[in-house]
Amino acid sequence: MEPEEETYAPELCAHCEGAGCCYCDKKGEVLVRQPSKKCHHCDGDGCIYCGFTGWEGLEGRYPPCTW
Ligand SMILES: [Zn+2]
Ligand SMILES: [Zn+2]
Repeated sequence: MEPEEETYAPELCAHCEGAGCCYCDKKGEVLVRQPSKKCHHCDGDGCIYCGFTGWEGLEGRYPPCTW
């Protein structure tokens, strides 16, 4: 039996819509805890609470934008 673990899956970064930006570490997607939920602060548009990715339950912290 496997222990119940939080699972994460890549979701499209709302800020760059896959193009890659500093908020998603230029990957175009971010790891989000499953089942994935859009950020309830911005409804997926991106805000400071979700690191501008549009998702809740990000895995770890993505580095702040330094461009
Ligand atoms: Zn992005
Ligand atoms: Zn948000």
